[in-house]
Amino acid sequence: MQALTGDTLDILIIGGGIVGAGIARDAAMRGLRVGLVEQHDFASGTSSRSSRLLHGGLRYLAQGRIGLVHEASKEKKVIHHIAPHLAEALPFIFPTYRGNRNWVLWQLKIGVKIYDLLCGGQNLGESSWLDQARTLKKIPGLKAANLNGAVRYFDGFTNDARLVLDTLRSADRHGAQLINRCRFNHAHRSDVWECELEDQLTKGDLQVRAHAVVNATGPWAAGLPHSQVKLRLTKGIHLVVERDKLPVTETVVMTEGSRILFAIPWGERTILGTTDTDYDESPDRVCTNAVDIEYVLRIANQFFPDAKLSAADVISAWAGLRPLIADPNGNASDISRSHEISNPEPGWWDVAGGKLTTYRLMAEQAVTQITKSLHMKTPCCRTAVEPLLQDNEVNGFSGILPPEFSRRAVEHYVSHEWALSLDDVMIRRTSWHYYSKDAATKALKVADWMGELLDWTDVKRAEELRQYLTMVNDQAFPKTPQTRQCEKLPMLPLV
Ligand SMILES: Cc1cc2nc3c(=O)[nH]c(=O)nc-3n(C[C@H](O)[C@H](O)[C@H](O)COP(=O)(O)OP(=O)(O)OC[C@H]3O[C@@H](n4cnc5c(N)ncnc54)[C@H](O)[C@@H]3O)c2cc1C
Repeated sequence: MQALTGDTLDILIIGGGIVGAGIARDAAMRGLRVGLVEQHDFASGTSSRSSRLLHGGLRYLAQGRIGLVHEASKEKKVIHHIAPHLAEALPFIFPTYRGNRNWVLWQLKIGVKIYDLLCGGQNLGESSWLDQARTLKKIPGLKAANLNGAVRYFDGFTNDARLVLDTLRSADRHGAQLINRCRFNHAHRSDVWECELEDQLTKGDLQVRAHAVVNATGPWAAGLPHSQVKLRLTKGIHLVVERDKLPVTETVVMTEGSRILFAIPWGERTILGTTDTDYDESPDRVCTNAVDIEYVLRIANQFFPDAKLSAADVISAWAGLRPLIADPNGNASDISRSHEISNPEPGWWDVAGGKLTTYRLMAEQAVTQITKSLHMKTPCCRTAVEPLLQDNEVNGFSGILPPEFSRRAVEHYVSHEWALSLDDVMIRRTSWHYYSKDAATKALKVADWMGELLDWTDVKRAEELRQYLTMVNDQAFPKTPQTRQCEKLPMLPLV
C-alpha cells in the first residue's frame, strides 16, 4: 500500500479480474509503474465464473463473425503457449438431429474445417465427423432417436481463476503493485488523476496519483464514476455433477434452438452449463436460482435421458455475469462479444467486454494505446511469448484440476498468492469447493490452517465459516447436499 501511495503511478488499474490482471502484467513487463486494486478477492467477479473454455466460438462462426473467431482462435493457442499448466486441448462432440434446422450436419462439417483454418491453419487437434453409430459409441447414453451423426472439433480448457492469479503472479514478478480488498471510490483530475481508494479491511482511505486510470471492472464498469461504458449484463450458471452420473469423456454440445450448452469433463466431475438471461440487478451478489438449475438439468436430461439428473445430484454451482458491450440504448450490439477500449476523458480508459480467451490481446491493445497517449517509449509487448510462470513456480498448486488437499498448499496460497479469506482458498485458489463432495469438512480444516497462519481468533474463524455458507447458499438453490453439510458448520449466528 505504501508503494502504491508513494510516487505518481503511470497506470492505476481498477479491477482484479482477467482483464485488469492482463493489463497489469503487460504494463509491468514494459517497465511502467503499475498499481492494481481489487475490491474483493482477485478473480472474485466474472473471471472465476465462466465455462473455463479457451475458444474461438463455433457459435459466433455460425453468426458469420469471422474476425472475432479468428482473433480468439489465435489467442487460445497463445494461452496454451504461455500457460501450458492451465491449458488443455479439449475435444468437442456436437451431435445433430433430424428436424433441427438450426444445426445441420453438412453445414457443421464445413464450419469445423473453417474453424480449424481460423486458428492459423492448425487447431489444437484436427476436426472430423462421426456417423450415428460412432457418435453413440463415443458418447454412451446420448439420445439416439433421430440422431444424424456429429462433428468433432477442438477448443481449449482452462481454469479461469487460476489464469487470473498466475497472470497476477507474473505481473507481481515484473514489479506491479497489486492489492486486493481495496476499493476505488472516486477520482478527479488535476495535472494527474487523484484517486480515492478505501481499504476494505481497515476501512481506511488512501489517495493514489496516476497519469492514467484504467476501468477494468467487468460487470461493474458502467457504474464507475467517469465511466462512459454501456453494458448489457446477462447471467450464466454452471452446475457440477459427479462424472459417474454423466460419464462424458469429451465435451458434448447440447442444443436448445440456436443456443448451445455444454457437458464438460473435469476430472471425476462433469460441468454443465450455461444459461444466458438478462440481468438488471446489482452485480454484487449474483446467484443461481431454481429456474436456472431446472433449465440446465432439463436440457442435460433431454440429451442423456437415462441420467435422470435432479437437483440432488448437483455437487456445486456458480453464477456469473457477462459484461457485454451494449449499443447506446442499452441493447446488446452486434459486437457484443468483442471488446472495446475507449478514452472518454484525458487519462481515463474504459476497457470492457471481450472474453477470457482474448484477455491478453485486450491488454496488449490497451497498454499500447495508453503508452502512446502518455508519450512514453516502451519496449514491445512480450506477453504472447514469455510464459506466465517460471519453471520453479509451477509447483503443483496451480492447474486445471484442484491441487491435492494439504496444509502445504494452504500455506502456499496464504504466503504467495494473497489469500486472506476461507473462500479465497476454497473457491478461487483451489476449486476444492466446486469439486469436493465433502467441501464442508475441507472448509473446516482449511479454516483451522488459515487461522493458525493468519492468527485468526475464534470469532474471526466463525465469521469466515458463516461468510462461506452465505456464498454456498447463493450458489446453489434449491438446497443441494453440499449446502446441507455446510449448514452444520460451527459458525456465528447472523446478527
Ligand atoms: C457464464 C459465463 C461463461 C463464460 N464462459 C467463457 C468461456 O468459456 N470462455 C471465455 O473466453 N470467456 C467466457 N466468459 C466471459 C469471461 O468470463 C469474461 O469476459 C471475463 O471473465 C471478464 O473479465 P473482467 O476482468 O472484465 O471482469 P471481472 O472478472 O468481473 O473483474 C472485474 C473486477 O473488478 C472488481 N471491481 C469492481 N468495482 C470495483 C471498484 N470500485 N474498485 C475495485 N475493484 C472493483 C470486481 O470485484 C471484479 O473482481 C464467460 C462469462 C460468463 C458469465
